Amino acid sequence: MVVTQLPRFHYLVFKNPPPSFKFFPKPKVPIKSTASTLFSAPKSTLSTAEPIPITDFSLPDEPKLEISLDKLFVPPETQVSCDDSSLSTRILKGSNIVLSKYARDAQVVQAEFVKSSVRTEDCPSDGLPEFALVGRSNVGKSSLLNSLVRRKRLALTSKKPGKTQCINHFRINDSWYLVDLPGYGYASAPQELRTDWGKFTKDYFINRSTLVSVFLLIDASIPAKKIDLEYASWLGQKQVPMTLIFTKCDKRKKKKNGGKRPEENVKDFQELICGFFQTVPPWIMTSSVTNQGRDEILLHMAQLRNYWLKH
Ligand code: GDP
Repeated sequence: MVVTQLPRFHYLVFKNPPPSFKFFPKPKVPIKSTASTLFSAPKSTLSTAEPIPITDFSLPDEPKLEISLDKLFVPPETQVSCDDSSLSTRILKGSNIVLSKYARDAQVVQAEFVKSSVRTEDCPSDGLPEFALVGRSNVGKSSLLNSLVRRKRLALTSKKPGKTQCINHFRINDSWYLVDLPGYGYASAPQELRTDWGKFTKDYFINRSTLVSVFLLIDASIPAKKIDLEYASWLGQKQVPMTLIFTKCDKRKKKKNGGKRPEENVKDFQELICGFFQTVPPWIMTSSVTNQGRDEILLHMAQLRNYWLKH
């Protein structure tokens, strides 16, 4: 069954005890981990013979996304089971994310640029939860930020000279932050500068106690890039909570030209990074051209945020 409409709120019937979710949310005290514990950690034992169809944005003649139960991101206090016939309606469109009772207050009604910081210590200190957007330069980060807040030029602030290397905070609804981090992988930037950005961004990831999740943007219109895989694996090794945002999913390469469809690139990326994570990271397919995935990102952020605030 493939559903076309998703109900926004769900009260779930629990049949099984919940699996453990070490990845959600980030403990409020930064944690240090060794690669060995992560790599040897057992994966979820959930399994199902039947893959679950996921509503996606494929054209009618293309195969639908299917996902097995053990590849779902199941928020805490939420249960899934193989014999739950409504499960596919509880998965956010074009993603592996199961909705939880915390998915509410997702709308953006107000957005304002607050400040640019060059060090983690200089970031806002009001304790509001935040989500950081990061990705290779040109991945579509500014376009996504503008689409999330429904403003054409808000993210231009981060592109102004002097601000591209900063941690840029945007306050949403006076209650949480979207944080624009410097893009990585600028071929033209001097090596020294590239390393420096990496250093302060990593410091922010590890020491920013109000960071709920990093949203790592990956271009789904091209095959996985080494630098993106390295970034994802670093976040995995440091146990920094991460959501993968696949961008440019509207760009469909023709098979005959040797290009892969976004769905295929998304699947390949999952397979390449799965060894780095204890539990499957959440992912969402998006396009800033069609606004695909916009509401899903906001709902995912809302459920992460509401859970984080409560615990
Ligand atoms: P940034 O450098 O990561 O901030 O990337 P931008 O948001 O400036 O986008 C880089 C380029 O990709 C621009 O030409 C955008 O128009 C294009 N782009 C961004 N998002 C999408 C998308 O979802 N689909 C398509 N087809 N193009 C996009």
